[in-house]
Amino acid sequence: MAKITLSNLRHSYLPSPAGPEDYALKEIDLDWQDGGAYALLGPSGCGKSTLLNIISGLLVPSEGRILFDDRDVTDLPPDQRNIAQVFQFPVIYDTMTVRDNLAFPLRNRGVAEAKIAERVAEIAEMLDVQEMLDTRAAHLSPDNKQKISMGRGLVRDDVNVVMFDEPLTVIDPHLKWKLRSKLKELHQRVRATMIYVTHDQTEALTFADQVVVMQDGEIVQIGTPVELFERPQHTFVGHFIGSPGMNVLPALELEGVILFEGHQIAFEGAVKGTGGHTEVGIRPEFVSLSDAGLPAQVRKVSDVGRHAVVEAMVGNTPVKAIVEGEVPPQGDTVHLAFRTDQTRLYRDGWIATEASR
Ligand code: ADP
Ligand code: MG
Repeated sequence: MAKITLSNLRHSYLPSPAGPEDYALKEIDLDWQDGGAYALLGPSGCGKSTLLNIISGLLVPSEGRILFDDRDVTDLPPDQRNIAQVFQFPVIYDTMTVRDNLAFPLRNRGVAEAKIAERVAEIAEMLDVQEMLDTRAAHLSPDNKQKISMGRGLVRDDVNVVMFDEPLTVIDPHLKWKLRSKLKELHQRVRATMIYVTHDQTEALTFADQVVVMQDGEIVQIGTPVELFERPQHTFVGHFIGSPGMNVLPALELEGVILFEGHQIAFEGAVKGTGGHTEVGIRPEFVSLSDAGLPAQVRKVSDVGRHAVVEAMVGNTPVKAIVEGEVPPQGDTVHLAFRTDQTRLYRDGWIATEASR
């Protein structure tokens, strides 16, 4: 186990990059504590796998350093970094049994057979694959192959970090939720530093204590699931996390007053700076129907299980509200109230309201 530090990392796949657009990773500085559960979350193409492959040593960064516990490993090949990596698609030996597949990373390191048997039994139990230990891997379903692939990543207890790159991609939807919670449990038992890469917010938020949100080769925010939900540092985070995501509403600033569709919007906590492209951010969870709110006309109501999402037009702008209980019919005039302590101002995408507590 180790603390991982990334310092001034940049990476381009081009031989002579010119502008920032030529970099798959623009400027990454990160500290990951020993034993933590981290997720790297962002849309496809934002640089997640590039970052992971730089940490494991499969890729050498164009610039910057990688430290494990303050030891510079930037120039070390993968096999000297002492890490385990689980990929999107299963990496196992088809001709070997499940037992031998799980034992392989340990045999490779010269671990004693008695210890190997013990670890393999432990991992098989955690992953619930005991009854297939003597089956040849070739005969397994894709789901089970990926489970074994994950087991191979978890079997060594001396690694600096275990990294998962979208490991649930090939897993059947109905099994996904099961493995998702299993991984969380595994982290609690194994206590290794784990980095979990995904484009799926649910996977990231269930697994990680801390989530790193990336966009276009840059880190936009690092925070706990609650922090990402309550104080998105950028409208991208607000929109990307949540279902539906945060309402990001066009705003005008007039002599220090913020107006949305002609209505004054109140904030808790001071508003910073002036100018820029101003927007108001409020999550649908914090918009309610109230006689005192902004007049709006209901455009659409969708049922999403325990509650409904009501989309209503305030002037020319749609605003979503999550409503429990009775919902108004389409075409109805309603009033929308924004919870002041959960209303944020953004300038050029970045948060411009200070925390009031
Ligand atoms: P993610 O894992 O978040 O989907 P990647 O790290 O795979 O993103 O890719 C980041 C960017 O780098 C993308 O624009 C992608 O097209 C580019 N890229 C990835 N791998 C290579 C490669 N081997 N050669 C050139 N460009 C690459
Ligand atoms: Mg990827």
